Amino acid sequence: MLKMSGYTGEILFVDLSSGTFRTEPTEKYAKDFLGGRGIATRILYENPDALAFMTGPLTSFVPSGSRMDVVGISPVTGLIGGSSTGGEFPVALKFAGYDGIVVTGKSEKPVFIRIEDSEVSIESAGELWGLNAFETIDTLTKDDPDLKVACIGRAGENGVKFAGIAFSHRNLASRGGLGAVMGAKKLKAIVVHGTKAVSPHDPNELMSIFEKIKESIVNSGEFLRFKDWHVNFVPTILKLKMPYFGDYEREWEKAEEAAMKAKEWFERHTVGRASCFSCPLRCWGVVNYEGETLPINLCQGTFPAVTFTLKTEDPELAWRIYRKCQSEGLDMMSATAVIAYASRLGLVRLGTEEVLELIEKIVTRQDEGNILAEGIKKASEHFGVPAVYMKGGMESWSSDVRPFVGSALAAAVADSGSVNRALYGFPEFYYHIKKEQAEMMATRFVGDVEAAYPWSYSESKVRFAVLWENLHIIADSLGVCVIALLTTPLKLWAEAYEAVTGEKIAEEELMTAAERIRTLERLFTLKHGDGRDDLSPRLFKDEPRLDKEKLEEMKRVYYSLRGWDEKGVPKPETIEKLGISGLVEL
Ligand code: SF4
Repeated sequence: MLKMSGYTGEILFVDLSSGTFRTEPTEKYAKDFLGGRGIATRILYENPDALAFMTGPLTSFVPSGSRMDVVGISPVTGLIGGSSTGGEFPVALKFAGYDGIVVTGKSEKPVFIRIEDSEVSIESAGELWGLNAFETIDTLTKDDPDLKVACIGRAGENGVKFAGIAFSHRNLASRGGLGAVMGAKKLKAIVVHGTKAVSPHDPNELMSIFEKIKESIVNSGEFLRFKDWHVNFVPTILKLKMPYFGDYEREWEKAEEAAMKAKEWFERHTVGRASCFSCPLRCWGVVNYEGETLPINLCQGTFPAVTFTLKTEDPELAWRIYRKCQSEGLDMMSATAVIAYASRLGLVRLGTEEVLELIEKIVTRQDEGNILAEGIKKASEHFGVPAVYMKGGMESWSSDVRPFVGSALAAAVADSGSVNRALYGFPEFYYHIKKEQAEMMATRFVGDVEAAYPWSYSESKVRFAVLWENLHIIADSLGVCVIALLTTPLKLWAEAYEAVTGEKIAEEELMTAAERIRTLERLFTLKHGDGRDDLSPRLFKDEPRLDKEKLEEMKRVYYSLRGWDEKGVPKPETIEKLGISGLVEL
């Protein structure tokens, strides 16, 4: 069997129970599942103990081709927990000779995996255990700055259900609690040093497509938005009218003032921009404060969540909370939701130093921190005070998605962890500040302006949600940042795939691959959890802003467009058509 260009051709399987490793050919999965999220889901489907780190065929080759997807069973939901990350680790892994790493089993003692150009060893992490993520990265790279690290902090070690995996001081595969999965395996880190070349099929053609993609990205609205987003993002969130105030609250009288203070603070302390490997969007604002330089993620809502959900008027305190979460490897979306919930119980006063103390208690599982570390659903069951959460008990995305009907639908049907794996850049999110652009997108993609309106329950919005989810899956599976993928016609990405792999692929075939991956995610939910009641979580209960009947109807349309029955179960003919009947019992 010939190896497809662009892939290294091998996936590394490490079994920590036996301390052994082996490889499997990537080609076994690549045709049907592309890479990244697709291959990782396919592997997890048959081996739920796996924690898979998978790059895609375009990782390292195209603008924004910096990504890998991390997939395992989420300790919060018991369903798929998936999270994408960028930075340099994914490219280094490919340069070391592996398209991905799949970790199974569990070590008795703390270990880390070292990969040096295909040489693999499992080493003691005894001295690293107990360090936070920043300290771990700094210790491991002290003598070799070229080493790329994926690691957990104390939160992951202690099984905090919303611990992520850190890939640098900035990149975190944050959602789904996958850091706790690493911790349960006693795997502190994976370190990679790769110097091999991975060759594309047609370098000249790829160079020409690279330039076209880059041009498309830098001329996009996204690029223009990021230019000033790095200081304006908190005020912009206010303009978006996103309810960021946590749980059942709708307003915070100091929001405007806090936003202005945050803007001034960022203007004073931002010293530049940074990006993941080969990304022209450069969406990280580099902040220098008190002698420390730290890039802050500007394309997600982490700093706004600290500011608004935690009602932190003082940007210096917000910065310290942000840094504390990041250095401990905590998912800031979940952490802020849990802390806001704790404030309702009187366990912490928001906007004060007590927040930092509570984070420490959560990370080390002291006192009430031990309950809160289990996540918002378990905490609400323990304390008997209702909380808002998504399917399986996962904390909501940074802002409350319920006033946005399409986003509420995407959250309801999600099977791969956080809803941001389906709806980045949804037009209804920015309708309030860029009405024309939102309407133009809705018209362009689904031929109906209604899909742009946050309050609309239109059928076109369901079609938009399906399309958008497919595009996210394609990005996560090709190894491209979804922010970049959405700025550029799919045709160009298909051409890049052909130039890299030598395999022709039509846009429709990419869409079919996304359908296949999405349906496999749903089958995983049905196999391992209760995916039949997508609207049951507390996110939707008692929510006056949502019309439940209309949302039910949208859900039925969504199922139908996916080829699933009225209960959300993929139909036998859909499974057959997608070529995955060999994987499931019909
Ligand atoms: S858009 Fe931002 S997060 Fe995505 S690859 Fe570029 S720099 Fe990284």
